[in-house]
Amino acid sequence: MEKVSTITAPRTPITVAYGDGIGPEIMEATLNIIQAAGASLAIETIEVGEKVYQRGVDTGMESSAWDALRRTQVFLKAPITTPQGGGYKSLNVTTRKALGLYANVRPSVSYHPFVHTQHPAMDVVIIRENEEDLYAGIEHRQTDQVYQCLKLITRPGSEKVIRFAFEYARTNHRKKVTCFVKDNIMKLTDGLFHKVFDEIAAEYPDLENETWIVDIGAAKLADTPERFDVIVLPNLYGDVLSDVAAQIAGSVGLAGSANIGEQCAMFEAIHGSAPRIAGQNRANPSGLLLAAVMMLVHLGQFEVATRVHNAWLKTIEDGVHTYDIFNAGSSRQQVGTSEFAAAVIHRLGEVPQVLKPVSYGTTQPLSLWHKNGRHQKADKRLVGVDVFLDWDQGSPNDLGGLLSSVVMGPLQLRVITNRGIKVWPDGLPETFCTDHWRCRFLGREGEIVQPSQVVELLQRVLEQGFDPIKTENLYLFDGVPGFSAVHG
Ligand code: NAD
Repeated sequence: MEKVSTITAPRTPITVAYGDGIGPEIMEATLNIIQAAGASLAIETIEVGEKVYQRGVDTGMESSAWDALRRTQVFLKAPITTPQGGGYKSLNVTTRKALGLYANVRPSVSYHPFVHTQHPAMDVVIIRENEEDLYAGIEHRQTDQVYQCLKLITRPGSEKVIRFAFEYARTNHRKKVTCFVKDNIMKLTDGLFHKVFDEIAAEYPDLENETWIVDIGAAKLADTPERFDVIVLPNLYGDVLSDVAAQIAGSVGLAGSANIGEQCAMFEAIHGSAPRIAGQNRANPSGLLLAAVMMLVHLGQFEVATRVHNAWLKTIEDGVHTYDIFNAGSSRQQVGTSEFAAAVIHRLGEVPQVLKPVSYGTTQPLSLWHKNGRHQKADKRLVGVDVFLDWDQGSPNDLGGLLSSVVMGPLQLRVITNRGIKVWPDGLPETFCTDHWRCRFLGREGEIVQPSQVVELLQRVLEQGFDPIKTENLYLFDGVPGFSAVHG
């Protein structure tokens, strides 16, 4: 049985962080396994997480660590503990955005009958947009009663992750790419993601494609995950559903992930630092190990990736299990973290007999497909403005009457909404109103509005004692409204 690697590839520099909680234990196990398998790595270690936060670095990572990451461009990261409260920023979100890691690849595979699952045929890869959506982190308190979080979906961001999903599917011999959106409600933001999906799908006639509204799509995923193959979706839906997928496949402790950007990539388990079992040699290192396998594929070390993954599958198949996946029916031996790692190392060179062996020899690295820029800039015309007011002095009709009387010039008050529902003119008395009002002013039909007219309108509104908390300009792009219609 072959146990010794003959790999001669040059050592590839990578950055490693041991993290917090169970992080050091599972990182040590992971590195032991991949090095025993012949991974050719020049490891540079950085400190991230709790201790760095406690030194007062609000991102959880010193600038020297950023330098290391930018130099090696590959980051194998153990989970970290984000201290509660105190205005600390999420290291993960910061790393993903700062390094432009736009695609988060999360495979969820069931290992039936060796790991308990109700979905024995599940083999789904979730590709989550990683930088945008509600995770732009732009939130405001606007009035006494109302808080806002901006959902940003961009054309280049959508193009990058959706193209990545199709290229990933093609390269990995997958058959179908599914898109989840909520564009029946968010017609502009999720509508854009859906539109870009349809455009890019047309370039891949060899792959099936389909789009689901995320609520029913999520229900189907939880019920019959075997009907899905690759799923691409905006950030928040991807965050939630990739955990669901990992859990129903068997355990969140088994899932690894790759965060891919144009220059850099980060690989980590999807679970957290599990502080309650830290330091007890109990944690399952499989999520981080499978992330490291994705890293080896990314680095082009296909043979090592294949050896590690197959030895891991054989270990699972032999019933050598950590406590989290141990069950009387299919497990034979309950082991701790380091014993599990030793069991995988012992099986290097072996392949599973029941579970499907992997072979990365025919797979290309998770390299980058950046082919944007075919979008023609649209003709943009200002046609009005939404003025948001903080106001609690009366009814919608009072506000409509007052505002109508202050308006002069080409911009006319057309409608007032509260939490998006029309309350003036002709609102229903039953509609609940907060202190947060959107007042839509439009120019005359077909007339272009000058930005200075918006400023004059605001000046007039201020002079009348109103409290405008923000404005949103209303544009037509190539004649199509770039703003949502009013409900009600
Ligand atoms: P968690 O994933 O750490 O733990 C959830 C449950 O799963 C716990 O019962 C835990 O014991 C178990 N578990 C997780 N990983 C396991 C493993 N490898 N082996 C065996 N059991 C495992 O989630 P949490 O408790 O919500 O978060 C703990 C900390 O982790 C928090 O500070 C959170 O901010 C952080 N976190 C970090 C990351 C990351 O660094 N990528 C991700 C999520 C959470």
